[in-house]
Amino acid sequence: MVSEIIVEDGKVTGVEIDKGFSVDKGIMSPGVERIKSPIVICAVPLWDLFKVVRESSLPYWYVAWVKRLCENFCQVWTLWAGLKEPLWEPADRNFTMPALNRTAPTHGAFFGSHVSVMDPSVAPKGEYLFIALLQADDLSFPALRKPQNAENRRRIMKVFENWEADITDLWPKFKKALWVVRHANALCISEMPGYTSGAHVPDVQPPGVEGLYS
Ligand SMILES: Cc1cc2nc3c(=O)[nH]c(=O)nc-3n(C[C@H](O)[C@H](O)[C@H](O)COP(=O)(O)OP(=O)(O)OC[C@H]3O[C@@H](n4cnc5c(N)ncnc54)[C@H](O)[C@@H]3O)c2cc1C
Repeated sequence: MVSEIIVEDGKVTGVEIDKGFSVDKGIMSPGVERIKSPIVICAVPLWDLFKVVRESSLPYWYVAWVKRLCENFCQVWTLWAGLKEPLWEPADRNFTMPALNRTAPTHGAFFGSHVSVMDPSVAPKGEYLFIALLQADDLSFPALRKPQNAENRRRIMKVFENWEADITDLWPKFKKALWVVRHANALCISEMPGYTSGAHVPDVQPPGVEGLYS
């Protein structure tokens, strides 16, 4: 793991890898290795940029911009459920995108599918795996950035409760699911090329640092 991309006098000079402390023949080593390089391509997610690049190496407006962008994730929420009976017939009609009453994301979509032909450890013969996916952002569900907060944990649970209630309205057999696994994660920043114009996202070459591509 790179602990820091070293920037000296406005130029990248390499990276530092923190291997942890070690003691050899009574000598304690901080365990930091430096690899020299005039160019570093930093491919960590944008929200981890300042874990590896010191904020003071970059213009303050750029740091502020990146921080603001990282306040709005494009989120992906998934539900996996094991079923004895398919939710709809014929079971192999595989993909649907209905509207939801309680769970209406500001952007993105909800879809659900049946996957009955899978590895038997995932959907044993005669059972069905139902997968639902919801894309949203901070405007719809403002909780994923700090899921460790009690308020946000409750909001996240509420999204899943509402979502499962919506699915049950559509397909009452969902209530009989053998098991349900809930998962929520950040897909990317909402303001990414493709969603907004490239002019609204930071350039791959942060200003003021020669040799850094991010
Ligand atoms: C549940 C889910 C479903 C998705 N489904 C789809 C899909 O169907 N189609 C699609 O196109 N996209 C999908 N995505 C999005 C897709 O996974 C991401 O957009 C893509 O992986 C981003 O790639 P990346 O290389 O920018 O970042 P990442 O894949 O996050 O790669 C960053 C890498 O940097 C490494 N790293 C971090 N810190 C350090 C460090 N200090 N030193 C060294 N290495 C470091 C990490 O270990 C990681 O390997 C999904 C995402 C999620 C969460």
